[in-house]
Amino acid sequence: MDDQGCPRCKTTKYRNPSLKLMVNVCGHTLCESCVEMLFIRGSGNCQECDTPLRKSNFRVQLFEDPAIDKEVEIRKKVLKIYNKNDSDFPSLREYNDYLELIEEIVYNLTNNMDLENTKQMMEQYQRENKEIIQKNKIKLTREQEELEELLAMERQENEQRRLLQIKEEKRQVLAKKKNKQALLDELGQKISLQPVPKIEEVLYVYKPIHVETYGPPLPDLENLGRFGYLNHVRAAPPQDLAGGYTSNLACHRAMQDAFSGLFLQSV
Ligand SMILES: [Zn+2]
Ligand SMILES: [Zn+2]
Repeated sequence: MDDQGCPRCKTTKYRNPSLKLMVNVCGHTLCESCVEMLFIRGSGNCQECDTPLRKSNFRVQLFEDPAIDKEVEIRKKVLKIYNKNDSDFPSLREYNDYLELIEEIVYNLTNNMDLENTKQMMEQYQRENKEIIQKNKIKLTREQEELEELLAMERQENEQRRLLQIKEEKRQVLAKKKNKQALLDELGQKISLQPVPKIEEVLYVYKPIHVETYGPPLPDLENLGRFGYLNHVRAAPPQDLAGGYTSNLACHRAMQDAFSGLFLQSV
């Protein structure tokens, strides 16, 4: 893409992103500060094409191609004079011819073609159609006003609808809250009317587990050492004790295994 810039001071949008390019009726570009400098007396000639320009006619360039800015401005001016619409013509054919003529005029003025003839033609048209131009201008203004009125009405309706909606939402939230409160009240009444049932039960008491081995009774865990049973098992090293293991435990388990199912028979 070509970097846009001022043809006079050569500043570009790349070097100065805040550069503001302006364009006048001839379609040539100048930056804002060059306009200030060259048109200090309010008017002057275009650096490129020598067209006499008024400072007040400079517009900020909206399109990358300043020729389009020029065309947009010209089209606006042309359509102020050529403001007929389809109802002003006896046939669609004539209306289409008229639209084509407008395009030709805009094209000629934008591209500086046949300027004198085109301008004369426009002036003649303006003289001959003075009344209808004025009538359509009023009509267009009225239509514009009506449209604006309609839009304003629509905006108002939307606003009212929005307010109603907010009101309805608030009402629903409130109703929900009320329902909830009512439910809680009802529940509270029910609960307070009925006495809380008392559960009468014996408290839990821990009983040590009794393993039925179906064999001779085992000495208690803590007595194993005294009876000499622990002499036959490996003593627990400190790291085992840390994990909760004791020699008594292993010995007791082994004896449980050995004794279970041994029925004593008296001889
Ligand atoms: Zn400049
Ligand atoms: Zn120019």
